[in-house]
Amino acid sequence: METQLYIYNTLVRKKQLFKPIAPPHVGLYVCGPTVYGDAHLGHARAAITFDIVFRYLIHLGYKVRYVRNITDVGHLENDADEGEDKIAKKARIEELEPMEVVKFYTDRYHANMDELNVLHPSIEPTASGHIIEQIELVKEILKNGYGYEADGSVYFDVEKYNRKFEYGKLSGRKIEDLLQNTRELAGQEEKKNGFDFALWKRADSRHIMHWPSPWSEGFPGWHLECSAMAAKYLGDPFDIHGGGMDLLFPHHESEIAQSNAAHGHDPVKFWMHNNMITVNGQKMGKSLNNFITLDEFFTGNHESLVQAYSPMTIRFFILQAHYRSTLDFSNEALQAAEKGLSKLFETYKLIDQLKPAHTSSFDIDAIKNSLENAMNDDFNTPVTIAQLFELSRMINLANDGKASLKQPDIDQLKQIFGLYLFDVLGLIPEKNNSNDQLVNYLMDTILELRKQAKENKDWATSDRIRDELAKLNIQVKDTKEGARWSFN
Ligand code: ZN
Repeated sequence: METQLYIYNTLVRKKQLFKPIAPPHVGLYVCGPTVYGDAHLGHARAAITFDIVFRYLIHLGYKVRYVRNITDVGHLENDADEGEDKIAKKARIEELEPMEVVKFYTDRYHANMDELNVLHPSIEPTASGHIIEQIELVKEILKNGYGYEADGSVYFDVEKYNRKFEYGKLSGRKIEDLLQNTRELAGQEEKKNGFDFALWKRADSRHIMHWPSPWSEGFPGWHLECSAMAAKYLGDPFDIHGGGMDLLFPHHESEIAQSNAAHGHDPVKFWMHNNMITVNGQKMGKSLNNFITLDEFFTGNHESLVQAYSPMTIRFFILQAHYRSTLDFSNEALQAAEKGLSKLFETYKLIDQLKPAHTSSFDIDAIKNSLENAMNDDFNTPVTIAQLFELSRMINLANDGKASLKQPDIDQLKQIFGLYLFDVLGLIPEKNNSNDQLVNYLMDTILELRKQAKENKDWATSDRIRDELAKLNIQVKDTKEGARWSFN
């Protein structure tokens, strides 16, 4: 692990060399969805951003424990401390149990993430499954004097906290400005200050999700779950905490405050935030009629869409922008992404048809280095993709006889191209429109395993692979250039 990975740390507002607290282990926590509706592009961007982080850290040889939570209780309307719980509201309207809503949308979220080829997190904890841990955290904060009880609810005392620590260090907000902005909000009577946030809320009679606690029958504040679950599974402090930019304040700011108040130190070394997606330059929102779910993208079933877009097109479109830049959706941009990606897949297929030469016109190592440098520079996927297009240009030149490549360079090129396209960027050929590519890819994998078996003198395995393939009418021939296959 000599690679020098630099990550932009929102906390210090600059790129810093990444060093895990306890290498080779890395703890990664990402705020997952509140499951009360279908996933949209914003969900896809956050999930794909941190999927790239997860994949690249694994590629570098780290052992990553990736925790992404499911918020199933405590997230109130307008992200504030008043109003109805988002999930309870949906349950009331649909006449369902809240946990039916949670299960339904969690399943749909998982299906969407699988379609986008987002790797599963190592642990996916829920807020409702960690009420005890959250109550313990509130007790700690109260014991240290940074919380107060009011009519069965418990609030975080931001002003008192700010005398010793710095509230606003992540978002750059100043407590004086917050005071001005929150004074007029309704329903804040129990709080000493408008910017104090709930750690525990007493449930009123219409609130259906509640648990016993030392203060009241109630439910945890929204920010609490992430502090409690991250500390439980990743320790305190841990390496990387991610989420969308919209969570920076108050959610992540409050997570930092809770941990400092309970344990006396910051919970996280690196804070990462992905930027938002706009639609024709406008913010996405249900009221703006530009709110398109992932299923609508995949089926093309929305009035703003001129066609359906495959999950891999969506993934490629998202990766074409750096995660810290805004990304504007338009049909034209997605159509361009669709074309670009199919060009890369086509080129990958072409590598096998290249005729080896005695000399090479290209420096493959230089390309390999620039791919690595791009990813090491704060996961710069647009530059990585640009380098893949550069590789693609070389392959096409060689295929047209306008450039030459030696066999070892062709092999290396194929390995690098596949590594970055499939493993690091997670772009895989889709079965609906490219069965051939999928078969080619699977055959490459199978023949690679057979080659390894032969190298290990594991003849039983290598023979078994050959025989099983023969049953499928696939013939494998060993040549000087390696194994070749064809349908009988
Ligand atoms: Zn969170």
